[in-house]
Order: sequence, then C-alpha cells, then structure tokens
Amino acid sequence: MSPAWPLSCADFAPWYDEAEALFHVHGRRGDDPLDPGTTPYPFVEVKHEPKVQELSDKLADIGLNPFHLPLGILLDQKEDGFATPTSVCMRCSYFDGFPCLLNGKADAQVMCIDPMLCDHPNVTLMTGAYVERLETDASGRRVTQVVVRRREQEERYSAGTVVVACGALSSALLLLRSANEQHPKGLANGSDQVGRNYMRHEMSIVMAVMRHVNETVFQKTLALGDFYFDSGDADYPHPLGLIQMCATSHADQIKGEAPLGAIMQHLPDMPFEEMARHSMDFWLQTEDLPIPENRVYYQDGRVHLDVAETNAQSLDRLKAKLKQVLSDIGWPAVLIERSLYLGKDIPLSGTAHQAGTCRFGTDPATSVLNLDCRAHEVDNLYVTDASFFPSIGAVNPTLTIIANALRVASIIQARL
Ligand SMILES: Cc1cc2nc3c(=O)[nH]c(=O)nc-3n(C[C@H](O)[C@H](O)[C@H](O)COP(=O)(O)OP(=O)(O)OC[C@H]3O[C@@H](n4cnc5c(N)ncnc54)[C@H](O)[C@@H]3O)c2cc1C
Ligand code: SF4
Repeated sequence: MSPAWPLSCADFAPWYDEAEALFHVHGRRGDDPLDPGTTPYPFVEVKHEPKVQELSDKLADIGLNPFHLPLGILLDQKEDGFATPTSVCMRCSYFDGFPCLLNGKADAQVMCIDPMLCDHPNVTLMTGAYVERLETDASGRRVTQVVVRRREQEERYSAGTVVVACGALSSALLLLRSANEQHPKGLANGSDQVGRNYMRHEMSIVMAVMRHVNETVFQKTLALGDFYFDSGDADYPHPLGLIQMCATSHADQIKGEAPLGAIMQHLPDMPFEEMARHSMDFWLQTEDLPIPENRVYYQDGRVHLDVAETNAQSLDRLKAKLKQVLSDIGWPAVLIERSLYLGKDIPLSGTAHQAGTCRFGTDPATSVLNLDCRAHEVDNLYVTDASFFPSIGAVNPTLTIIANALRVASIIQARL
C-alpha cells in the first residue's frame, strides 16, 4: 500500500497555485474529477485537435472522464486552438521530450533561471561545477563547506544555509559521499534512510496503430484517470494509474526503434510513414511503491542502484484497459511498445520520473528530512528536489517538486 504523506494536499494548495502561475500551466479546472485544485488554472486549456477531440467525445460517450492534460507552455491560442502570430510556441509536433528551439516550453531555465540571471546581478550561476561533498563543523549540526570540482580544480564555498537539489539519485549520493566522524553512515543518515525508498514510475509508451488516419500535430492534450484508483475489475480491485497522450510518432523514430532492428532498417520509409499516419500515442504510468531495499548507495567506490519492480501487474492491466477502451469506442488498435526518447532500455536507464531516497516525515528514525525539508540532523541543510517524496503517486511529479520548493523557499526566507 502506498504510504500517506505527512502533509495534506490542502497544505500544498497555495504552492501549487503559485507553481502553476510561475510555469504558465494551461488547464481546465473541474475537467479532471480527481483534481483536488479549486482555483482556476492561470491559462486556458490547450485545445484538442479534431482527432483528439473525437477521441475525447467517444470516451465520454462510454461514460469515462477524459480531461485536458495540464501543460506548462508559452502558448497563446486563437479560438480554434492554433497559435497566435505572437505566441512563442507554435504548436509543432515536438511537444514532449524534445528541446524547444523557440523556448516555448515553460521549463526551469526559461521561466526561472534565465529571468533570474537577467534581473538579479547578485546571483551567479556556475556551470560545470560538481559538488563533491559537504563538510560540517565539529558538532556535525552545521554544514560549513561546499566542496566543488570545477575545471579540474577544487573550490570551496560557504553559506549560512545550504540547499541540496541534485535530483533523487544524486542528492542521496552527495549525502552518502559526505560521511564524516559525526555522520559515519553519510551526512544526515543516522536513520539509515538516505538512498532508500527509491521510486520510479513504471512506464510504458505505446503506439496504437489504427485503421483511420490521425493527422494530429500537437497530440499531448488529453489524459484519462478513470483507472487511477480502481481498475474496475472484480479480480483485481487495485489502482492502475494514469493514461495520457504523448507526442506524435515520427516515421524516422519508428524506423529507428523497429523491433527487427537491422533488417527493418533497410526497408523503404513508406511503411514507417504509414504507421505514423495511422497511430495515436499514449503514455501509461503506474505507481512504484517505496521499499527500503530499493536504494542507491556506494560500494567499493562505485554507485549501485538496487531496484525490484513493485507494481508490474498494474501496468500490464493498464495497457489492457487502453486496448479495451479503444475497442469499446470502435477504434480497435494494435498496441506497439515504443521506447521513443527514453532510450531502448526503458525499464531502468530510460527512467524519467524518480523520487524518494531522502523522504520527509516527523520521525527522525524513519525519515531523513523534517516537514520543512530540513535534515533532522543538520540545522542549516535543506533538500528540495524529488528526494523528499514519501510516495510517488502515478501522476507526473514535477509540479509537486516545484510547489514544494516554493514552500521550502518561503520557510528559508522566514528564517533569514
Ligand atoms: C525526457 C524527460 C521528459 C520529462 N517530462 C516530464 C513531464 O512532462 N512532466 C513532469 O512532471 N516531469 C517530466 N520529467 C521529469 C522531470 O524532469 C523531473 O521530475 C524533474 O526534473 C526532477 O526535478 P529534481 O529537482 O528532482 O531534479 P533535476 O531536475 O534532475 O535537477 C537536479 C540538478 O542537479 C544537478 N546535479 C546533480 N548532481 C550534482 C552535483 N553533484 N553537483 C552539482 N550539480 C548536480 C543536475 O545536473 C541537475 O541540473 C521528464 C524527464 C525527462 C528525462
Ligand atoms: S517544441 Fe513544443 S513548445 Fe516548442 S514550438 Fe513545438 S510545441 Fe511549442
């Protein structure tokens, strides 16, 4: 069972609102029956193109609740959904795991880092700077030095407050590398929880090849949460996860990922183009459960990551649900697993969503951080990336990471 968080959704609500405004989230509140939010999204939903709208209508006709996927994007739409002439995003077919050449994605660099560097001359961004370890004073209660390797040289920095945000794997590794006399198992690791409870979404990208042609350009606008909490099947009364659409398949991607590899590579482009024209693409994700054995750690100077699957059956069931639903609406499809931009090895090396490893909680014996995301054992050390998650849910994690970072920033500000 997925553990409850020590803070409620209501505690995060104002920070979600702030995060949605900061990252230009487009959505339609009330569309998704599972969305606990109450204030309207700052920007109207990204409109469906005709084929996706048809899919949405057909799903609604069989009693499901498709909704507009909330998206962080710098898109100004006309009534028909097309981009206005002055919109940064032009609604091309690459909205997903591709870098945007127009800076139309509301990502951290576009929305926060670049404007901050422009507006605040007292802020410095150091690139190519690898934090090797953190050092503490003799009490072990304060970080005094941040040891950095940059251009083959060691550099040292100090600050009253130190915030670690290296991501779920690297933050834990930094704390483990920073073991010292006062923290022999790793900095802030008296609980032995640093690195443990690693979670990654069990994910699958499927290309549904159908009889009809799909000419959608910007496809990532629809999601379906009807099987999120309940499969609806008497023989498997468990949550399954979220179905969402993703970027349209391109013929060259399908060719590159063709299952028969070398042989298929020599075929002309036409079958791949036809497959792309007749497909719709879905991203399925299921919750991974936190177990202490799933962990990142050092052994003999090398990084190890132990991962055992915790919920594979739900993902299989979710795939079967998608197939069934498409059949029920009269769009029977062949589902082909895609590796897309995630690399061939989706099970682990293609992980996009990961969390855990420094979970927050009230009990220092079972958590690394307190409810302010400050280390229980170190007074001036905060961790603000996905490490703090006690469980990962089955929705995309980044808005929660941002909302929490804003929450913690306000706590730190009040302390200054
Ligand atoms: C292709 C792809 C698509 C995605 N799409 C979505 C999506 O649509 N929606 C969504 O919600 N999420 C998405 N995600 C997931 C999202 O990117 C992550 O959830 C989020 O970035 C995690 O934030 P974080 O702060 O935990 O860590 P990160 O964003 O990984 O930030 C950690 C930073 O720390 C730096 N760092 C690490 N170690 C050190 C060190 N020792 N010294 C100095 N710096 C260090 C890293 O270089 C990095 O810049 C996607 C991920 C991928 C890969
Ligand atoms: S890549 Fe994405 S954000 Fe950039 S123009 Fe295309 S659809 Fe818009």
